[in-house]
Amino acid sequence: MTTGILGGGQLARMIALAGLPLAQKFIILDPSADAGAIPLGSHLQGDYDDMTLLQQLADKADVVTYEFENVPALAASYLAEHTCIYPPAKALEASQDRLVEKNFFHNLGIATAPFAHVDKLEDLQQAMHHIGYPAILKSRRFGYDGKGQFRILDESQLAEAWEAMQGVPSIVEGFVSFQREISIIAARSVSGETAFYPLSENIHRGGILRVTHCCHDDPMQQQAEAYANKLFEALDYVGVVALELFEVNGELLANEFAPRVHNSGHWTIEGAETSQFENHMRAILDLPLGATTACGFSAMVNFIGASAPDDDILSIENCHLHLYDKAPRKGRKVAHATIRSDDKALFEQSLTKLIALADQYDDS
Ligand code: AMP
Repeated sequence: MTTGILGGGQLARMIALAGLPLAQKFIILDPSADAGAIPLGSHLQGDYDDMTLLQQLADKADVVTYEFENVPALAASYLAEHTCIYPPAKALEASQDRLVEKNFFHNLGIATAPFAHVDKLEDLQQAMHHIGYPAILKSRRFGYDGKGQFRILDESQLAEAWEAMQGVPSIVEGFVSFQREISIIAARSVSGETAFYPLSENIHRGGILRVTHCCHDDPMQQQAEAYANKLFEALDYVGVVALELFEVNGELLANEFAPRVHNSGHWTIEGAETSQFENHMRAILDLPLGATTACGFSAMVNFIGASAPDDDILSIENCHLHLYDKAPRKGRKVAHATIRSDDKALFEQSLTKLIALADQYDDS
C-alpha cells in the first residue's frame, strides 16, 4: 500500500520511518527539493494547491495524511473526494483558525481562556472590558511557535498591539496564569479504536517548545482524555491528535489542538511501547492500535537553531538523537534528543546534561 503525505519535514520523516516496517510505500508532496522525508519515499515537488500534483497524489496513494494543519481547503476537499484523507478535512477546518477552534471547544464544553474576535481596534477596546489584563492578541490563522502574537499588559498598549497584527483578523485571549502546560497525544483508528498516551508536560520559551516530560499517573489524565474523546466524536476523527492544555488550579483549559503527530509526543519513540508515529500509521491503515504505556522515565529536548555535535549528545547516557537533516537557522527546530531510563536518578542526571547542551547551542 502507498501512503501520501502532504509536507516532507521532520514529522513526515518520522511517520515514514514508522510506516516502512508496515510495508508502506510513501509519496510525499512538498515544494522543497531537499525536505527531510524525501529520502524515504517518492517526491512530488510543488505547491500544496497544485491540482496536477494533487491528482497524481490521489491516483497513487491509497490514503493521504499530512504533517501540518495549514493544508489549503481546496487540497483537502479534492483529496477527500478522490482518495481517503486522514485526519478528516473537518479537523483541518476546526484547527486552522483560532476563533473557529475556540468556538468549537466552547460548543463541546471544553473550557478555554476567555476570548473575543478582533477585526479592528474598537473590537479590541470593547473586548478588553470583559477579558481583562494581561491578555494575548493572536492572528487567527498561520500562527505557530508564538509567531503572530502580542502580549498586552495594560490599556496603553492596545493601539500598538493592533498595529502589530497589520490588520489581519485576530483573536484576543485572557492571559492564563497556568501552573503547567500539558498536552495529550491520542489516537483513533478508522474502526473507532482509541488509545491515549500518558500526559506530556511541556516547557516553552519564547513560544517555542523546549522540553517535554512524560508524566506518570498524572491527576489530570482523566480530564484530558475526556476532552480528547470529545474531539474524536465531534470530528469522526482518524489518526493521532495533540491537544494542548493549560492546568490552572486542578482545571484544564484548552489552548489549541493539532490534527497530526506533534512535537510534544516525540518522547514516545523511545519512551512508549508504541510511538505516536506508529500509532498514527496503524490508525489511518485501520490496524489495531499499539499499547501507549510509558517505558520508564523519559523526556525530550529540542535543539533550536543548531544542534550540538553528535558526539557530545550521544555521549550522554541513555540518550537517543533524531537529526532532521535541516540547515541551521535561527529559531528553527533542527533535531531532538530523548533520554529514557528505568533509573530515575540516572534519568535526571542525563536530562540535566542534555538540557545544558541544548541551551548552549540555542540561538533564539
Ligand atoms: P500558541 O501559539 O497559541 O500555542 O502559543 C504559544 C505559547 O504561548 C503557549 O504554549 C503558551 O506558553 C503561551 N500562550 C499562548 N496563549 C496563552 C494564554 N492565553 N495564556 C498564557 N500563555 C499563553
